Amino acid sequence: MNNRLKKFSVVLIIIYLFINYTACVNTYSSYVNLTKATYAPPGENNSASYVNKPSSSYNLGSAKIFAGKNVIISLFVDTPGKRWTYKRRQEELKKLSRACDYLTNKGSEYSQDIEFVYDWNTDFSLLKSSNMKLAADNTGFEDELDKEFDILTKSKIDYDALLRRYSADNIFTIIFLDFDGRSYAICYDGEDNPKESVVIFKDTNEATYAHEILHLYGAHDYYSGAEYSNDATRELKKRFPKDIMLTTFLGNVKNNTISDLTAYHIGWTDSAEIVTRFDELRR
Ligand SMILES: [Zn+2]
Repeated sequence: MNNRLKKFSVVLIIIYLFINYTACVNTYSSYVNLTKATYAPPGENNSASYVNKPSSSYNLGSAKIFAGKNVIISLFVDTPGKRWTYKRRQEELKKLSRACDYLTNKGSEYSQDIEFVYDWNTDFSLLKSSNMKLAADNTGFEDELDKEFDILTKSKIDYDALLRRYSADNIFTIIFLDFDGRSYAICYDGEDNPKESVVIFKDTNEATYAHEILHLYGAHDYYSGAEYSNDATRELKKRFPKDIMLTTFLGNVKNNTISDLTAYHIGWTDSAEIVTRFDELRR
């Protein structure tokens, strides 16, 4: 390749990268209702207290039943003073990759053939950016993020096109925020936005990635004060102490299990023995 052609190619590549990394215009022109949020287990990183809303996302929304091919869009949101760098995005991609590997391996234990498509290094259309003016400590942050996501899924993030391109079964977005907070999943339960997403904050471990992703397919929280009665929660802790829906702080996601109950909630099995004792655990 001669020098002029090389320079021309470099310019083309830079323009391509620029288009893909440039923030989308941030406007709040429409109003949407808050979808139901399901939070990460309480951990060292978050002191905030949330009221959880029991809901099931099983067989609903853009991530229905955890099977087949699953497309993940990564949306990096810049906020005032917090701008994602290329290096930090790649670090998050590695964590996401480990979480996906974990879920794929666990799926095979239940004879499920799970595949993820998420690597924006090979397909730039899986990488999106946005710019929000709102500060992290604003109490209306989640509402504003919801509105922004609704706008983006109408203008910049085309779930249907990606599903078709990959002949995929499920699709969702991971929204990355570069400040402290308690990660949560925005599950569709039959109302509001069926385009599901997960919100991941700074320093989130891969077990929490996996935990939040499972919520989109119907998994529930097992920790105290979340979704179930004290009696059920006590029994869940006794039977499934390492289940990923109970804890995400075992040092390495590989130390987490996916119990028969979680497998049942996400459609990997048709029943779980513990449901016969606690009807509230039914899918
Ligand atoms: Zn949770």
